[in-house]
Amino acid sequence: MALRTIVQDGDPILKKVCRPVTKFDDRLAVLLDDMKETLSDAQGLGLAGPQVGMMRRVFVCLDERDMPDPIPADYEEKFIEFVNPEIEYLSPETNEMYEGCLSFPGHNGAVTRSDKVKVKAQDRSGNWFELEAEGMLARCIQHENDHLNGVTIMDRATHFYEDDYPNDGDED
Ligand code: ZN
Repeated sequence: MALRTIVQDGDPILKKVCRPVTKFDDRLAVLLDDMKETLSDAQGLGLAGPQVGMMRRVFVCLDERDMPDPIPADYEEKFIEFVNPEIEYLSPETNEMYEGCLSFPGHNGAVTRSDKVKVKAQDRSGNWFELEAEGMLARCIQHENDHLNGVTIMDRATHFYEDDYPNDGDED
């Protein structure tokens, strides 16, 4: 496995629509392993293909559903791999939260997302699975799926934390 360079703000690849994965081969397995290692190293929640320069419909999300709190030092992170994901359902109920992106460090944008999501995707062998998620995982899936369509928090955010941060007047 190897760390991949995370594509940063200004790279046109972040605005492109990715192509489906058609070969479920060793190259895909290496890509997914590298993406998980890169995500873990960057201490992020999710990472999409274009963020490592691959114009393919793949992303990985940290599976935080059964994560202990506090997280023990020897905790082994789990990830979910999504290949050719298709969002099947977005709940009409939404919530707004500040969201960051490894490709836009320093920017935290307020983004409204559905509370719940249902997604269909393939695993690294090409087998289809379906997943229903809520909470942070639901937000992560929506964020990463946006990347596959060239959409980022810079398009989605209504405002940014740095704009809202009270930098005039008294600070406590
Ligand atoms: Zn992102």
